[in-house]
Amino acid sequence: MKAILDHIGIAVDDLDAALRFYRDALGLEIETPEDVPSQRVQAHFVPVGQSSLELLVATAPESPIAKFIEKRGPGLHHITLRVDDVRVALAQLKARGARLVDNEPRPGAEGALVAFIHPSSAQGVLIELKQGGGIRAADPKGPAVHPASSVGRIDSDRAATAGPIQRYSLGDLELISLSDGFFRLDGGSMFGVIPKTMWSRKTPPDDRNRIRLAMRPLIVRGARTMIIDAGMGDKENEKFHEIYGVERSRHLDHTLAEARLSPEDIDIVLASHLHFDHAGGFTVRDAAGRARPRFPRAQYVVRRGEWEDATHPTARTRASYLLDNYVPLAEAGVLQLVDDDVTIMPGVRVRRTGGHTPHHQMIMIESGGKSAAFVADLIPTAAHLPDVWVMGYDLFPLDTMTAKQQFAKEAIEKKTLVFFEHDPVLAAGYLKEESTGRTVVPGE
Ligand SMILES: [Zn+2]
Ligand SMILES: [Zn+2]
Repeated sequence: MKAILDHIGIAVDDLDAALRFYRDALGLEIETPEDVPSQRVQAHFVPVGQSSLELLVATAPESPIAKFIEKRGPGLHHITLRVDDVRVALAQLKARGARLVDNEPRPGAEGALVAFIHPSSAQGVLIELKQGGGIRAADPKGPAVHPASSVGRIDSDRAATAGPIQRYSLGDLELISLSDGFFRLDGGSMFGVIPKTMWSRKTPPDDRNRIRLAMRPLIVRGARTMIIDAGMGDKENEKFHEIYGVERSRHLDHTLAEARLSPEDIDIVLASHLHFDHAGGFTVRDAAGRARPRFPRAQYVVRRGEWEDATHPTARTRASYLLDNYVPLAEAGVLQLVDDDVTIMPGVRVRRTGGHTPHHQMIMIESGGKSAAFVADLIPTAAHLPDVWVMGYDLFPLDTMTAKQQFAKEAIEKKTLVFFEHDPVLAAGYLKEESTGRTVVPGE
């Protein structure tokens, strides 16, 4: 395993004294502090060459840093090592008997994956492994991107990256999971009737009660090149970006390029449904400000019922259906409506789920005896695996429950690779039914 030192976390109980030493006596530069409300911590980064020190100050008595100081006094709190692949590192450590705090990586700041190793295996030092996320620029004049604060910060308002694009082969097909960045929605609305005390443990909200969601369009390459959904695109204004906490410093154009594709390569654009976080990227504004199709050669395939609903929004659906995202497709003559569960290209079939919207559909992919499914808003994140963890946004939640139950049973039997469009960490995985409930094993 190759690992480089990312930063060293130091628990500080007297900030003035710490500044007198690190800033005044040592003469180091201290960056503007960052608040990490979810952890009740303020982090002061001190660059030292390629790595940094992170001075951690508790902002409330229940902060993990306050508890640490109470028990052990101020001092070394953790060391963060950057690795290429956290999952591989964890597997290697487990095989050699190391005691882990996290068996699975969890989300850190800026799309990083992090996992902690228990101090009892590391001579008394808490070790954090980190993959992806911001890397401090080596050039001092370059953009200063903070490394993830290692107290599990996920509420960064800074530019985000989602790690490398992920490729999967499925029989004769190649599947490539892309990213159009992240946005935020109210945590309560995302989990419907589930109490906050339960969902906030899986997905800590930010100080505005929002949770961070990814947008992950999927490329299917076979007889033709298809993209399923296209993220939110860039037609919306500052206010919209503020409300939805949009982070698109790395978006679909970047990840398409990383997959060595351009918009001209796309033959088919397939919609799960027409909400803005799925269809916003279907169109772009031209110099005159008019929305036009973004993929110049593509046919856009939409389910007829969804098209009808999206072009006749009601008071309840209006915030999600933005006409500029899809009406220009009809005007340009590139729209193709389908009525039933049909095959769109060899190996790719749509299946109506209903629930989220009456005509919401998932996409079933099969080749060489293997199967995959792009479930869109049927199971937006891995936290939504249990039957009753259904979004408050869903128009027909009981239909979502039924469809999810049936799908999960089938996916487990057929070992289907399931793509989670909105999961901030996990692009795809295999479902498993355990005595403790439904879980997911990361896909490869
Ligand atoms: Zn939706
Ligand atoms: Zn959605």
